[in-house]
Amino acid sequence: MSLIVVGSMAFDDIETPFGKSNRIIGGAATYIALAASQFIRPVNQISVVGYDYPQEELAELERFGVNLEGVQIKKDRKSFFWAGKYHMDMSARDTLVTELNVLSDFDPVIPESYQGAEFLMLGNLSPDVQLKVLDRLRERPRLIVMDTMNFWMDTALEALHRVVARVDVLLVNDAEARQLSGEFSLVRAARKILGEMGPKYLVIKKGEHGALLFHGNTVFCAPALPLEDVFDPTGAGDTFAGGFTGHVARTKDISFENLKTAIIVGSAMASFCVERFGTQRLREIQLSDIHTRIRQLADLVQFDIDFN
Ligand code: AMP
Repeated sequence: MSLIVVGSMAFDDIETPFGKSNRIIGGAATYIALAASQFIRPVNQISVVGYDYPQEELAELERFGVNLEGVQIKKDRKSFFWAGKYHMDMSARDTLVTELNVLSDFDPVIPESYQGAEFLMLGNLSPDVQLKVLDRLRERPRLIVMDTMNFWMDTALEALHRVVARVDVLLVNDAEARQLSGEFSLVRAARKILGEMGPKYLVIKKGEHGALLFHGNTVFCAPALPLEDVFDPTGAGDTFAGGFTGHVARTKDISFENLKTAIIVGSAMASFCVERFGTQRLREIQLSDIHTRIRQLADLVQFDIDFN
């Protein structure tokens, strides 16, 4: 039951219509690990931070069962920094700043204890780093899941394609699926990505409209929970990824049926993430809260129909 998570660990400045945060803890791998740790421990983390990353935050991750052996601390460099601003309806955001800092030349080292992992979550960071991780694992994990974003499609498309070609599941949002495929229709985009680019499964996250799981000619849909208040969508995609891979790693079942369940779990986890700024909500929830939310999601789409 072993899971490796790769991704950024960051400081984020976030502005939403409800407020502004100043340099809070974020990063793809942070959200993924916090979400996945609800289902599987340890979460074997691979990332890099600078001298400015608070020791208490590393200790807090360890309390959540995150193994930091694969997290490098660069004593003379600054941590990755990202700033984003959401539009009024929060379905779109602008990236204001991306300072790669320690991420710019990150050379991941895989601790010996991580070798032989069954599950790999390649979270958002440079595709070159994602490739190095793939190359440095002696055995191919049973399931490799990858997340990415428009920044890397704009700056490193060729390397990104090389990673996509080697993964089993690609997670992207709707805009990224369109950008990667050049198709506006998400069904056509999925056909192109699955047919030509390598992955067997494609998950397209559609924010408040849920997520779609494509496999062959089949598509399955997970709703998003309609929430009264959405405070900060940052990290929702990564949290979804953490719930998805955490569930798969816990159950060790990589069937299509179980991946359907995994996108429901991912959707439930993402619904918590958006309720507070940054990672705050993910640090508060218990397994019982997750059970309740999964029930609510199931009730949302349960209906009897007698249509003749
Ligand atoms: P999400 O809202 O799920 O897309 O993820 C937001 C998180 O991704 C933030 O906490 C950022 O620190 C992190 N992030 C933003 N841009 C990048 C990037 N280019 N590479 C890696 N992580 C990033």
